[in-house]
Amino acid sequence: MILFPDNVPYFLCLSLPAYRLFSVSIHVSICDKNGYNYLMPHLAIFALGPLRIELDGQPISTSRHKALALLLYLVLNPEKRSREVLSAFLWPDYEQEKAFAYLRRTLWELNSLLGEGWLKADRDQIGLTPQANVFIDVSEFQAHLAALRHHNHPTSTVFCQECLAHLRTATLLYRGDFLAGFSLRDSPGFEDWQFFQAEELRQAYSSILQRLSNLLYQQGNFTDSSMFAQRWLALDNLNEEAHRLMMKLYNRSGQRHLALRQYQECQRVLQMELGVSPETATQILYESISSGEVLQEQDLLSAQFGNFREKPADVDVTVRLLEGWVF
Ligand SMILES: [Zn+2]
Repeated sequence: MILFPDNVPYFLCLSLPAYRLFSVSIHVSICDKNGYNYLMPHLAIFALGPLRIELDGQPISTSRHKALALLLYLVLNPEKRSREVLSAFLWPDYEQEKAFAYLRRTLWELNSLLGEGWLKADRDQIGLTPQANVFIDVSEFQAHLAALRHHNHPTSTVFCQECLAHLRTATLLYRGDFLAGFSLRDSPGFEDWQFFQAEELRQAYSSILQRLSNLLYQQGNFTDSSMFAQRWLALDNLNEEAHRLMMKLYNRSGQRHLALRQYQECQRVLQMELGVSPETATQILYESISSGEVLQEQDLLSAQFGNFREKPADVDVTVRLLEGWVF
């Protein structure tokens, strides 16, 4: 098997499964670093955004939401789960015998939909088959975050091209909130699980956009920085750091009127949602853009720090600002 660097998405795997006296057979397959083989039967689940499932590259659909919920839960929690836990998780309003029957029925539906072999079920437990060739975008997204943590750069201004590639790829995977539009109203346990997964992934995505837009700004790639800062603001329009970055980007590109309008938008949403005025750092930036004076980044950081001293609850945000973004 030949392994290429981590940032190459697909790997060419060569294997010599059998050596025979008169012939050598060479199997060539395409697989990724996790061993996901694109030529074997494979299941691909795209859960970041509206749910999409593909079996061997072909989309599959079903109206059986409980079956999809069970599949998703088992793929993201691959260790075996007891029938008791799963039936109570998905059918909390039914007595155990009835809930067990629904679980059996749902397993049958999944096997009919996907074919046998993806799930391993015995008398007591159900889990994902260990050798199953399953891709899920959530795990891939988390793998990019884990790779960033491994680099552990000391400050936000120190980074490498590999980090940048991980950040960019993660943004491509995030099509929208986890299971956007999907719900199981009669399973509050599942809905809670979905809510907390979605929230955690959304915060991670926001951190990625924050880091990426700032890194690209520092590199002088203002076009891409602006694109990611816009997405960051769309996700979190109360975030003043994102508003300030957009103000700086507009001002740098000679669109002072848009920079000033961004401040007004910041002022408007903060007043409407929280009943507060922009922070000192945002006001100073606005005044400097209005008057046309050049403001140093250090001035903004000082203003930011001074402002946070009046608001102790935000100290950890200041630490992130000064020391880099922690995922
Ligand atoms: Zn790095």
